Amino acid sequence: MANSFFGGIKINKTGLSHGKAPEIYTPAAVAINIAQQAGGETVPCIKEGDTVRKGQVIAESDRLAFLHAPVSGKVVRLLEKDESHYIVIKSDHTLPEADPVPFTQPISEITPEQITEKIRRMGVVGTYSGFPTHIKIIASRGKAFCLVINCVQSDPYGSFVREIVKEYPEKLVMGARIIARGIGVKQVIFALESNERRSYSALMRVIGEKDPLISVSRLTPKYPLGEERNLLCAVIKKEVPAGRATYDIGYTVFSAETVLRVFEACAEGKPVTDKYITVSGERCASPANLIAPIGTSLRAVAEKCGGVPEKAICLYGSAVNGKEADLENGCVSKSTSQLIITDIKPEKTEECIRCGKCILHCPMHLAPHTFITGDHNPAWQKLCDMCGCCQYVCPSGIKLLDIISQCKKEAQQ
Ligand code: SF4
Ligand code: SF4
Repeated sequence: MANSFFGGIKINKTGLSHGKAPEIYTPAAVAINIAQQAGGETVPCIKEGDTVRKGQVIAESDRLAFLHAPVSGKVVRLLEKDESHYIVIKSDHTLPEADPVPFTQPISEITPEQITEKIRRMGVVGTYSGFPTHIKIIASRGKAFCLVINCVQSDPYGSFVREIVKEYPEKLVMGARIIARGIGVKQVIFALESNERRSYSALMRVIGEKDPLISVSRLTPKYPLGEERNLLCAVIKKEVPAGRATYDIGYTVFSAETVLRVFEACAEGKPVTDKYITVSGERCASPANLIAPIGTSLRAVAEKCGGVPEKAICLYGSAVNGKEADLENGCVSKSTSQLIITDIKPEKTEECIRCGKCILHCPMHLAPHTFITGDHNPAWQKLCDMCGCCQYVCPSGIKLLDIISQCKKEAQQ
């Protein structure tokens, strides 16, 4: 098997991605959803009228990752909207940030438990899943022998992962060593697309040729290579059995941004207060990689890059499986990764012609067309990871993601 996985789709990189370092900006106000990580809500530990400093803890939990003020300013409201709870902070640029609290001793003197507790208190969660990083590290202990760092940006419109790898190879290597110690693995593999030459050079400059712990694996670009099961299949040339976690077969996968956050949390004492986002697409006037404070309105992020022109649409997430962004109410969370401003696709929902294309491209070996009639294997509802390949290739324009999503909902009832 080549350095790839079954199914998926090849999409030409459109040239809309760009090679500029991320821009940082501070909005006038932020609204932070207190339930923005997988696993539940945190509890606010501030009240309306309080003054907070950027990086100060604003919501806690005894098992989940903490939330921190993304900007310095005044807590103007604790808001309840659509069954979600938000902390609204008005920015005040004159106020200082909270003091950082890094580890002061070398990594070799820090225990795995101290590492996971630090990561939890600094609010680190998965880049795309929002899954608390400390819980994933703890779950991997005693099971995984190899840590894979996901440096892939398989979506054609995205580019912030590439910028992170090029800008911060030293921090990534150090962050990987910290996670490796937190789990207790003896092997680390950085996985990146074979056409990312500058990222590869940047990493190799830091790692060198003979590091006994760390190596680099270069993979054939294809969507959705960034999904951890597909990535692992491409790296180790073996599929993760259906229904099993990657650490069940000895591997655990963390994204490049998460590794950077772990480094910042442990070595710099910096909590997670912002998110890397790519804003791009055919109708985007000024594509950019941004570092946006958590809680920034999605509309403000889109406007920063030229807004959404008439007869265009703003998608939240990937070009293949993204949904229309809620620009009125949506805010940046710790798992926001992309806004794509693109043309509205003409509606074209015809009958399934049983061409079988969806089967050929499904990385999970499912027969997606059977979701339409409901005669799919019930176990497939769980196995489908909503990558969107089936919908992307369907010549009849059938909205398979909506159909599968409905099947998943019905199965939970
Ligand atoms: S790709 Fe579309 S038309 Fe072809 S079998 Fe699948 S659902 Fe049916
Ligand atoms: S059925 Fe699910 S996993 Fe398979 S291609 Fe469609 S969305 Fe992806």
